[in-house]
Amino acid sequence: MSKALGLLSGGLDSSLAALALKRQGVEVTGIVFVTPFFGATRARQAAHRLDIPLIVENIGEIHLEVLKNPRYGYGKNLNPCIDCHALMFSLAARHVDKGDFDFLFSGEVLGQRPMSQNFNALQIVAKHAGCADIILRPLCAKLLPVTPMEEQGLVDREQLLDIQGRSRKPQEAYARQWGLQEYPGSGGGCLLTEKSYTGRLRDLLEHQPDCTVHDVELLNLGRQYRLSSSAKLTLGRNQEGNEALQAAARPEYTLLHATVFRGPTGLVSGHPSPADLLLAAAIVAGNGKGRDEISVQVRLQHNGEDSLMEVAPLSQDRSMLLQVA
Ligand code: SF4
Repeated sequence: MSKALGLLSGGLDSSLAALALKRQGVEVTGIVFVTPFFGATRARQAAHRLDIPLIVENIGEIHLEVLKNPRYGYGKNLNPCIDCHALMFSLAARHVDKGDFDFLFSGEVLGQRPMSQNFNALQIVAKHAGCADIILRPLCAKLLPVTPMEEQGLVDREQLLDIQGRSRKPQEAYARQWGLQEYPGSGGGCLLTEKSYTGRLRDLLEHQPDCTVHDVELLNLGRQYRLSSSAKLTLGRNQEGNEALQAAARPEYTLLHATVFRGPTGLVSGHPSPADLLLAAAIVAGNGKGRDEISVQVRLQHNGEDSLMEVAPLSQDRSMLLQVA
């Protein structure tokens, strides 16, 4: 029995690709990668439904480097799909190199996405990943050149599919036929494809090209305020958000909260000047219960040291002008 490792996002296509191989007796395992932009929840659910093992790998750092400078550019938003897929294949290929699997597969469908799944893009992904000879696309394999896996008899080409185009109807028909009753709708699995998110990310990448995964993670933890070209404030939206920001505090960040009046927690990241910290403290004060006071005391915690600052609260109207959409 041959052994295949598949990129499993947990969506309909990757689940069907796994099923297409499993149904012809291939021993199938899924692999999913985790970054601040996409996680493993859907893949875990899919692996459970498909009854296959799943490998989960965090690739936040290396993926962020690819995102900052993608060789093949971005899609509609900040999604570097060709580079991202190539990275995933190249990381998955290490498991084949170790001898744990015979080949890789994915749920890509020819012509489904204009940028990343046309014939040329599939070729580029495979070549850029450096493992073209071990990649199988079971959903559209019959429309692609014969692979070494088919030549060697590791899979039966006749039992692979010939799906192409943007419609999901053929996949839905196979899902019904093969008893796959539950699967998520299309889209929604990657923040890099969401316009509402990429505005904040674009702001971070433009102002802080050396940003880390920790800086990126802050984008999900609260409202974002651009203090200056080199510093930014993240403000907790509620108690849960405040606690998340406290947990995310690192020595290089500055944590802020009003001492007497209740209000949100703030976290300054980047390379703040004293003026940036003053502005951040005024925003924190202006969004708390002391917003109508003349002066509010704010505690700043940075690198294990505490300091206090008296500030005039900034009105919410004025602080909203600094908010990153
Ligand atoms: S949608 Fe997101 S996860 Fe999928 S290939 Fe594109 S960038 Fe990568």
